[in-house]
Parts: sequence; structure tokens; C-alpha cells
Amino acid sequence: MSTIVAISTPAGRGALGIVRMSGSGALRITNNITGRLSDLKPRRTTLHNLTDPNSGEIIDQALVTFFKAPHSLTGEDVVEICCHGSPVVLRRLIDLTLGFGARLAGPGEFTLRALANGKLNLAQAEAIRDLITSQTEAAARQAVRQLNGELAAALQPVKNSLVGVIVLLESALEFVEDDLPPPRLKSINDTLVHTSKSIERLAESYSAGHLLQDGITVAIVGSPNVGKSSIFNRLLERERAIVTDHPGTTRDTLCEPVDIGGVPVLLMDTAGLRVTADGIENLGIERTHRAMSDADLLLVVLDASVPLTGEDLKILNCTENLRRLVVLNKSDLHSSEAHHPGSWGKEDIRISALTGSGLAKLQAAILSVLELTTQESGGLLVTNARHYELLRQAQTELQRAQELLAERVSEELVVVPLHSALKFVGEITGETTTEQILSQIFATFCIGK
Ligand code: GDP
Repeated sequence: MSTIVAISTPAGRGALGIVRMSGSGALRITNNITGRLSDLKPRRTTLHNLTDPNSGEIIDQALVTFFKAPHSLTGEDVVEICCHGSPVVLRRLIDLTLGFGARLAGPGEFTLRALANGKLNLAQAEAIRDLITSQTEAAARQAVRQLNGELAAALQPVKNSLVGVIVLLESALEFVEDDLPPPRLKSINDTLVHTSKSIERLAESYSAGHLLQDGITVAIVGSPNVGKSSIFNRLLERERAIVTDHPGTTRDTLCEPVDIGGVPVLLMDTAGLRVTADGIENLGIERTHRAMSDADLLLVVLDASVPLTGEDLKILNCTENLRRLVVLNKSDLHSSEAHHPGSWGKEDIRISALTGSGLAKLQAAILSVLELTTQESGGLLVTNARHYELLRQAQTELQRAQELLAERVSEELVVVPLHSALKFVGEITGETTTEQILSQIFATFCIGK
């Protein structure tokens, strides 16, 4: 296996820059650069001059750490050279290693080697990528859970049940000439139903999991002057949208990213939904409709200090079947109760954008409507589209097996979808993943990981 090398720190200047090497030549190449007399001890960090042996010129002073196979990240000999973070120094060091026979690593190649040497499973390798690219605390937390092997652990009982049923059916094929007795059939069916439910639970967590990873879009809609821009600014904690008491001031849709309780949220302040002959405002309204259909959640804002208008009712009606929160704004002004006796949904939130009261409740409600509580109450979420697809495919196969079982067809036929289900579940952790799929996944990694 060739020795690979890469700069593992981000491009550009910094206090430190790390060059990482993995492979059987790592120690020899390092000795060539640090001087043949240096003896690198495993798991010990030592200070060395990095020297170009051709010219004898010292290019930097660096801390060098050697990890001896198999006790390393990749399972091979690994050397990490921590030098000063100058792109020039790092480049020269890379060139030297290449000259001594290393080759540049491809994207995710260190992790790929770790996978090949059984240091981690595929779901954990993907978790490393997700952790590096995570944008919020909540997403990072989920990635760490998967890195710790929680997904593989959650899938293990599923695999065990599937293997158990397959073994039962296959042995029935070999040793029994008659059909399986009904109690046996029932117990097999029960196991399949139970297994299918476990897969379903995991697959369902993706609806929250992918939002956590990719972020959610929340659009603020409502009649002009109800306080949409004020709420937008409050949630952003700064003045981004112009607030005036002139109706129809926000003519375009404003979009800003904001972190709500560790979840990445793209917040949209839309133009009012007022029907008017004003061409510019009409354009804004068209955009509002587009924003509404793009959003994962709508905040339908009403002015709680005045009676509901025809426009308010229209907006309430046309958003009735969408995922929404009705926000009763201007609660600092009285008489709202009299004007809004009814509830527009069980999640009505009373706030004042002016004083900030009710804002924390609104933020919590946004997360809870999307089932993204910040505590995460112990729930492991599937955050990866590839994993979700595989779980769904496994589930379809399980259903097929149950149908065949109910039809009392030969066990030989029932095991076919069960083997497929096992293969799909195995693809999540990488046991049954083909080279082609692996290279597709690792193409999304960055160099040096
Ligand atoms: P938009 O047209 O829906 O975006 O509404 P704006 O955010 O521009 O607000 C319209 C007017 O209502 C401005 O004069 C705001 O100062 C005022 N306003 C917004 N929120 C509140 C609130 O909670 N209480 C009070 N008293 N006034 C508010």
C-alpha cells in the first residue's frame, strides 16, 4: 500500500499547519527529513528540525508524532508533522515527502484506509465528514453520537433478528419436508413486524434529522403592518428589515440565517399579502407565495391589538393546511382578547416584538413544531439521506417477506427479500458496500481527512 500525504489543516496562513502521512513508508520518509539519527518513538511527540537533505537547508522546526501500526487512525504507520502554518513551509514539506516516495492523498483517503483496516465503520466515517461540516451545535452533537457508533449499535439488533429468521427458514428448507408449523410461522412473522418497526422508527427520525443537518426555512407572513419585520429583527437580534408604520414597506423577501437553539434556520421576512394595484408590491407578493411554498414552517402573524381583517382571515384560510404557527403580535397593547377570542391552532403564541416578551416561547415553539427540541431527549436521529434511503429499501423488502410468508410460499422465496434487507442495512455501516458506492461517498470528503 502506498504512503499517502496531505496537509490536514485548512488552506491559508495560521499559527500551525499539520502534514499527515500514512503508510509503510511514513517513518522512513520522516527520518529522511528529520535526520537519520532521530528515533521516533510511538505516541511520543518530539521537536525536530525539518531539513532538505539535498541542500542541507533547515525549512522549519516542527513537532513530530509517530503512531505505529496498527494503533493509529488508519491502522497503518502514521506520522503527523506539526509545523508553523506557512503555506510556503507546508508546500516545501509536502514536496520533500513526495520526493521520498509518498503520494498526495485523495479526498477522505485517510478515513477510507481506516475503514478498510476496520478502525471504524462507514456510518462513523460519514459522521467524521458531518462533524467537520456541521454548522450548529445540535448538528455537531448528532455527528458525534454517530461517530461513537450509536447508529451501528441501533442497527445491530435489526441485523441479528434478520439473520435469526434467515437461519430458521433456511434450516427449515434443509431438514423439514413439510411446511413450517403455524406457531413457528407466527413467531417468524412477529419478529419481522418487530424488526420492521425498529427500522421505521429510525427512518422516521430523518424528517427531523435532515433538518438538523441541512437547516430549516421559516417564512414570516401576514397582513401589512402586523409586525412581521419587527419579529424578523427580534429573531435575528439585530435591525435587518426596515420597520415603519407605513403598510407595505417590506417589498421584497429578506433572507437571513440564524441559529435558534442550535438549529440552523433560514429566516424569511416576506412582503405583505395585500392585494393591491401597486406593481412593485405585487411582485413582492408573488415572491411571498414562493417563499411560503419553500418554507418548512410559516409564522402567520396577526396584530392582536386590532380586530381581525378580511386579509388576516384570507391568510389564515390559505395557510390552514400548511405547517404553521399563529403568532399574535403587539400583545403589549391591550384589547387583544376581545378581538381574538378564538384560537387559530393549538400552538398560538402571544408575543410583543416591541418589548420582546414571548420571544423565547416563540423560539421554543418553532423547534417543537419541527420536533427539534434542543435537549434531544436521548433520541438518535438519522441525518444522512443515504442512510434514510437504505432504511426505506430494507423496510420494503421486509414487507415483501411478510407478504410471502402470509401467502405460505416456499421458505426459499421468503429468504430472498430478507437477504436483500440485510444487505441494505449492511450498506449503512459499510459491510456490504461496493467499491463504487464507497468512492462516491469519499468523493464528498475533504483532502487530509
Ligand atoms: P410589517 O409590515 O408586518 O413588517 O410590520 P412592521 O414590523 O414594519 O411594524 C409595523 C408597525 O408596528 C411599526 O410601527 C412597529 O413599530 C409596530 N410594531 C411592531 N411590533 C409591535 C409590537 O409588538 N407592539 C407594538 N406596540 N407595536 C409594534
